[in-house]
Amino acid sequence: MSCNYREKLKNARRIVIKVGSSTLTHDNGRLYLPRVDRLSMTISELINDGLEVILVSSGAISAGMGKLNLKERPNVMGIKQALAAIGQCELMNLYSKMFSTYNQIVAQLLLTKNDVDDPIRRKNIENTFEHLLNQRVLPIVNENDTVSTYEISSLEQFGDNDTLSAVVAILVKADLLIILSDIDGFYNGNPKECSDYVLIDTVTKITDKERLFAGGQGSAMGTGGMVTKLNAADMVTKSGIHMVLANGKDPLVILDILKGENIGTLFVGKEKSSCCIDK
Ligand code: ADP
Repeated sequence: MSCNYREKLKNARRIVIKVGSSTLTHDNGRLYLPRVDRLSMTISELINDGLEVILVSSGAISAGMGKLNLKERPNVMGIKQALAAIGQCELMNLYSKMFSTYNQIVAQLLLTKNDVDDPIRRKNIENTFEHLLNQRVLPIVNENDTVSTYEISSLEQFGDNDTLSAVVAILVKADLLIILSDIDGFYNGNPKECSDYVLIDTVTKITDKERLFAGGQGSAMGTGGMVTKLNAADMVTKSGIHMVLANGKDPLVILDILKGENIGTLFVGKEKSSCCIDK
């Protein structure tokens, strides 16, 4: 029995969109303004159409590097945290300006893993999201780097923004998580290492085979690479949420994903894959 999983994405009403540093910044570390503008336009359009959107945005350290004219990402944790503090301000200032040209109000939420693990704090976060979404405000989420060392440490297994976006998607019971990166989707190996690797259209089950495909390292600008994206896919799909990994070079691609077009890689949410037999 064949099943067009992509068709189901047309029904997504509540969407979490995560953009990586590599999508938001030039190679020199500065924010790529035309892309931020197109992302703002696209998301504003979705909210105007009645969809509920949450944006999880990386890019604070890159924005801080750009502001201080630094050429290389520092290794010292305290300096990275200071850069994130400078850059987060810069990033939100930019989002606020860009979104206001499309009449869209934004809000900033800085979270740590401890916040989400604590039941009372978790409830507060849930309430804040619900109220913001009810008011058609766009919540923009990032990890609170001042108190959290997960995102900016070199540890890949936890605390990056891919994981954060999955945690948020589960928290708000989203229908779909879209992760925009610098790559067209999930390949059967790192395509930057060998051009023979091919793009996988749909993943219905994450097995050791997929984990092997994701084994490579991320880009210089990003922190997560494919391992954390696959982990995010594993987390959300187990909660019945679909995830699409796609190239963020043109954020308008989000509209095509929501039209059910074959863009990037679709990781099918668990219960939702029941109309097809997993191969
Ligand atoms: P972002 O900043 O968007 O989070 P990352 O640089 O962390 O992006 O991760 C994306 C990178 O992961 C790709 O540019 C690619 O080099 C690498 N990668 C490793 N394995 C794979 C794979 N199987 N499929 C696609 N990309 C892969």
